[in-house]
Amino acid sequence: MFGLFKKPGSEGKSVPTPSAAGDAGLATTDDAPRSAPVHSPPGDIPSVDTPPVDIPAAGLTPAAIPMGDKSVTDAPGSWFGRLKSGLRRTGSQLTGLFVPKRIDETLFEDLESALIQADAGLVATQHLIDALRQRVRRDRLETAEQLKMALQEELTTLLGPLQSPLDSGAAKPFVIMIAGVNGTGKTTSIGKLARFFRDEGRSVLLAAGDTFRAAAREQLVEWGERNGVAVIAQDRADPASVVFDAIAAARARDIDVVIADTAGRLPTQLHLMEEIRKVKRVIGKAMEGAPHEVMIVLDANTGQNALNQVKAFDDALGVTGIVMTKLDGTAKGGVVAAIAYTRSQAQGAPIPLRFIGVGEGIEDLRPFVAADFAKALLS
Ligand code: GDP
Ligand code: GDP
Ligand code: MG
Repeated sequence: MFGLFKKPGSEGKSVPTPSAAGDAGLATTDDAPRSAPVHSPPGDIPSVDTPPVDIPAAGLTPAAIPMGDKSVTDAPGSWFGRLKSGLRRTGSQLTGLFVPKRIDETLFEDLESALIQADAGLVATQHLIDALRQRVRRDRLETAEQLKMALQEELTTLLGPLQSPLDSGAAKPFVIMIAGVNGTGKTTSIGKLARFFRDEGRSVLLAAGDTFRAAAREQLVEWGERNGVAVIAQDRADPASVVFDAIAAARARDIDVVIADTAGRLPTQLHLMEEIRKVKRVIGKAMEGAPHEVMIVLDANTGQNALNQVKAFDDALGVTGIVMTKLDGTAKGGVVAAIAYTRSQAQGAPIPLRFIGVGEGIEDLRPFVAADFAKALLS
């Protein structure tokens, strides 16, 4: 049913030049509602015409994304430490199997059901089990511990194609549009992403494109404050218009990265899916070639259903990246393997898993690194 969405049509109307950008903070009048980003919550929220503060010195190149083991330490406060403890619930049902003993058929059977329970999916599970049986024969593995190491390697290989860090320097501003169903962690992830890009030395601007609830806007404004980045928000505006203004403002202010929040929606709510397609079209009007990334945010707890969400949003929008949140606190982290396998087999290249979230803290979102993930899961 998700294939029924009509293709985005070309809009007939022309779009005025983004003059709203320069005067984004000016008082609005009734006949110019589009050009007046407004922070609704009173108090000390940064005004939109205040340049983003505390932006690290220009000229910094984006930090290299940590690859493989280089940055891995087990210290509790380190990212790897948090990743490991975040993945504990998924990991424990796997590592629990590898008690000191020799490899036997029961071990394979238990491993198979543990992978399925972790939502790795039937196909990816079968692939891993087959690969391990081959490894046992080829490398003459004998102990459960050796099998665990082999699983870690096979998992790294399986997940490898998902690892494809975002190059936010590819355009200026680099426009990221966020999508997904309700409550997956979109707004929280935007807050963490703002921090991530700031740490890379990039200036960031957020667009409060979830215009459904005032609380959603306030939540984003709060994340903006926490990161010292400006948020473009409007009262009673439609999401396309907010995002349009944000891109215009970003261009006027020489901002590097724009991240646009959107309201959660179910793929079955066809009018809302149509609305988000319009948001994407309007982003393209505000800046040719944008959005540069359409990112779906998935909640790891939803397990296999996450695959359906990817498919539905991909059909509607063309998804270019995935954020997987809440890998802490779930025993279903195996869904990452399911995504790697189904997408890579069906479509040549999987949709990259750009970031994973393992907690609610501002530091708990990082680029996905296959080797670290496999290691954290099985150690
Ligand atoms: P949205 O509706 O998609 O924007 O979701 P929110 O960003 O509002 O997040 C919904 C809830 O999920 C909030 O309580 C967040 O704190 C929580 N959340 C988001 N990401 C994570 C994560 O990685 N781990 C955990 N444990 N909670 C998260
Ligand atoms: P249509 O409504 O599908 O015919 O497409 P439009 O070209 O009218 O644009 C759709 C939406 O994009 C509008 O309702 C606005 O929210 C937004 N939009 C389009 N052009 C502009 C613009 O110049 N400024 C602002 N702020 N928003 C715009
Ligand atoms: Mg939200």
